[in-house]
Amino acid sequence: MSCLDVETTINMLLKEIKNIFHLELDCIYPSEEVDSFFYLAIGHYLDLERFVLALEPNLVISKMQEQPLFEALAQLKLERPVQYILGMTQFMDLDFKVNENVLIPRPETEELVRWIISDCENQESKINILDIGTGSGCIAIALAKNLKNAKVYALDISEGALEIVKENAVSNQVNVELVRADILILDKLGIKFDIIVSNPPYVRMVEKNKMKSNVVEYEPGIALFVSDDDPLVFYRKIVEFAHSNLKKDGMLYFEINQYLAKETKELLEDFFSEIELRKDMFGNDRILKGKTP
Ligand code: GLN
Repeated sequence: MSCLDVETTINMLLKEIKNIFHLELDCIYPSEEVDSFFYLAIGHYLDLERFVLALEPNLVISKMQEQPLFEALAQLKLERPVQYILGMTQFMDLDFKVNENVLIPRPETEELVRWIISDCENQESKINILDIGTGSGCIAIALAKNLKNAKVYALDISEGALEIVKENAVSNQVNVELVRADILILDKLGIKFDIIVSNPPYVRMVEKNKMKSNVVEYEPGIALFVSDDDPLVFYRKIVEFAHSNLKKDGMLYFEINQYLAKETKELLEDFFSEIELRKDMFGNDRILKGKTP
């Protein structure tokens, strides 16, 4: 009998629910991850801090309070990412709404954003920034939040994604200009930029089968995958776009596929100088920048 079938009429102890999370999920996820799901869920639905069980080991919760926890548990069993279940995640210490229309922001992408922020620290004048393939808007909004002199444009082909960006801009109290366009056929926007940044789709089909099923089954394929024949299609087009739409001394920043670092760098070499490649916190080639001469 699955623990979810237990019909209880009495209120449960919170620690019993934690045990049920482990009983049901430890066969799918590492135990520490199950702990973190449980604490994220009680934080989100019950506004309880993770140390609550240490302070009050016999805390009882009501039927109404336990319901969303069991609903989350049922979805975790189907390997739906916890960020989509809660509808929220954090990026650069900011809260972002997410759903299946947008990629869940990754910690590696924070490193890209931090690189841009540190390069712009001493910039006093107004700058225009364009984020291509913005998704949840995490890059665009984190930049707008941290660079007060920046006007940030967030571009995506997906209407569903831009709706999320709009909400995230409002909740994070920043102004971001939304642009709906297909970068593969876009030549100009009538604005010259100081910075263009992009984390476009870069996962090849050959890499897809090595990815976890919660990514492949739930995250938007349009934001992740490219064909094996032409995996740098977005990079090539964005390099061209940046070449003609960046100001003099403008900067292009990319998150890249670690296995294609050399090829991606070569694409920049035709038009950009001062090219620099950096590794992410996992030691993989991940972020690339170049300057227009
Ligand atoms: N880094 C992401 C992943 O591993 C991929 C992001 C992208 O394709 N731009 O899932």
